[in-house]
Amino acid sequence: MPASDQLNIVPFVSVETMMDLVLTTGTETFLRELAAYVEEDFGRWERFDKVARVASHSEDGVIELMPTSDGTLYSFKYVNGHPKNTRSGRQTVTAFGVLSDVDSGYPLLLSEMTILTALRTAATSAVVAKYLAPKGARTMAIIGNGAQSEFQALAFKALLGIDRLRLYDLDPQATERCRRNLQGLGLTIEACGSTQEAVEGADIITTVTADKQNATILTDNMIGSGVHINAVGGDCPGKTELHRDILLRSSIFVEYPPQTWVEGEIQQLPKDFPVTEIWRVISGQVPGRQSPSQITLFDSVGFATEDFSALRFVHDKLRGSDRFQKLDLLADPDEPRDLFGMLLRRKALTSA
Ligand code: NAD
Repeated sequence: MPASDQLNIVPFVSVETMMDLVLTTGTETFLRELAAYVEEDFGRWERFDKVARVASHSEDGVIELMPTSDGTLYSFKYVNGHPKNTRSGRQTVTAFGVLSDVDSGYPLLLSEMTILTALRTAATSAVVAKYLAPKGARTMAIIGNGAQSEFQALAFKALLGIDRLRLYDLDPQATERCRRNLQGLGLTIEACGSTQEAVEGADIITTVTADKQNATILTDNMIGSGVHINAVGGDCPGKTELHRDILLRSSIFVEYPPQTWVEGEIQQLPKDFPVTEIWRVISGQVPGRQSPSQITLFDSVGFATEDFSALRFVHDKLRGSDRFQKLDLLADPDEPRDLFGMLLRRKALTSA
């Protein structure tokens, strides 16, 4: 990406630009490349400033800010979660984010992150599953077939070779849309009539439903030995997807414990329950899956470093290209301290 010689200009990646970037790369290739960045950054976890995201809760949703830095680059994401939104034609989750140069504090990139969040969430789930899913896993159940679902399916296909999907959503139209969108992409897809039916024979179970409550999407009797659960939808206080008994039988892996204890499935557990930070697995300090019968659970809530990885990836990917818009975002007076003078010159110019 151009360090622009115009200091006022910040490269802007719009939704349209992001879509073109994904499509020209190929969605699965994009997910694979993005996953490499996510994995690399988990591998250098100790370099990052880490803080649980700052959440502003309201009756129907949440707005969150997610900052982090590795000392060279800084990023933050603005993201919302409003399950009721789809009823008025809006997304449950929308986002945008900024990547900045720590040395000058100047933004390097402003990007849409609604699509990028779906991609980074799916890429992260798949990276984690490489370490936790049973060997030779080919079948994944996806419970909740909304905006995130196809991205999850394609990331697991691209990174793990998943080629059979079993879909279930309370809304059959969501399942049908998901099935149609994934048609012809090398997946054998079965639409199921219940969660119970969908999880039958699945090696991996992804839950990605949206409901602002302690839901019980999966009950204990649905979970056989040896499965990997990729629990994505429970990501707020009072918003969970799994029955507590499943957690008690599982080896639980989390992103950043101070955030996950508040937002994840483990908010249902006492604070001394053992959980493993996934970066320790990815960096080789502790093992991932240890036996074929072990139930592994990734209690995903989404952490700032994953957004950092995604923005770093997009920034690198656009290097040397002009496939972005130039945003006049930063004031740039001829003399840096003459900000007011710039206003006066503008006045002279516009009133001339
Ligand atoms: P969405 O509203 O587009 O889709 C959610 C789907 O879940 C809907 O089709 C709905 O009908 C279905 N659903 C709700 N309750 C259900 C139930 N009991 N059984 C089966 N299906 C049910 O939402 P989305 O954008 O796909 O997001 C899904 C969830 O993932 C949200 O809760 C969101 O906050 C979360 N999310 C988490 C991360 C993360 O990093 N962990 C990232 C993005 C989104």
